[in-house]
Amino acid sequence: MRLLVVEDEARIAELVRSALLRDGFAVDVIGLCNDAREALATTPYDATILDLGLPDGDGLRLLKELRGRGNAVPVLVLTARDAVEHRVAGLDAGADDYLIKPFAMAELVARTKALLRRPGGALGITLKAGNVVFDTIGRDVRVADKGLVLTRREIAILEHLMRRAGRVVPKSVLEDKLYGVDDELESNAIPVHVHHLRRKLMDHAATIEIHTVRGIGYLLVDSRS
Ligand code: CA
Repeated sequence: MRLLVVEDEARIAELVRSALLRDGFAVDVIGLCNDAREALATTPYDATILDLGLPDGDGLRLLKELRGRGNAVPVLVLTARDAVEHRVAGLDAGADDYLIKPFAMAELVARTKALLRRPGGALGITLKAGNVVFDTIGRDVRVADKGLVLTRREIAILEHLMRRAGRVVPKSVLEDKLYGVDDELESNAIPVHVHHLRRKLMDHAATIEIHTVRGIGYLLVDSRS
C-alpha cells in the first residue's frame, strides 16, 4: 500500500512517515501543493494524508480539484484549525476523514487504516495466491485458513511478491520498499528474509513458491498451476 503524505512541517511529516512505515506502508512525503498535485495526477496512491495549510496554497483547494477530476483516493485531512466550520468545509471539499493537530500517531495510523477498509476505497485489500490469503490492512497471513506468524519484513516481502505474482520483482525494488534511508542494509538481508519466508511457507504446506531469478530478484508462483 502506497500512501502520500502532504505536510510542510518537516518534524510532523517525519513522525507521520515513520509511524506509517512501521506499519508496513510505503510512504511518499511532499511539502508543497504544486508537487502534491503532480504526484496525485501520476501515481495511484491507496490513500493521501493532506495538511490544509501549505506554503504555496490551500490543501482544501487541492482536494476540491482532485475530486473535480474524479480522483476518489481516500483523503485524511490534517489541520491545526480547530473550528467546526473548517471541518465542515473539509468534508464538503471531499475529505473522507479529519484529524486536528496535535494528534497521536496511533490515532493517525488507525484512521488511515479505517479509510483503506472503506468500500470503494483502496482495491486489493485481500491478496490471494494459491492457498495463501493476505489481509493487507490487518497484516495477517493465512495458509489454508491457518494463521502464519511472520516478521514485519517477511510480511512486507510477501506482500510485494503477492501483488506481483507471476512477475519478477527485482531485489533492488524490495530493498527500496523495505528499508528507509536511515536503515542499515546488509547486502544479504533480503535473501535471508526470503529464506526464512520460504521455510515458513513450506512448513505450513503453502501452495506458493518463491523462486530466485539469479542476478535479478524473485518470482512468486502458484505451484499448483
Ligand atoms: Ca502546514
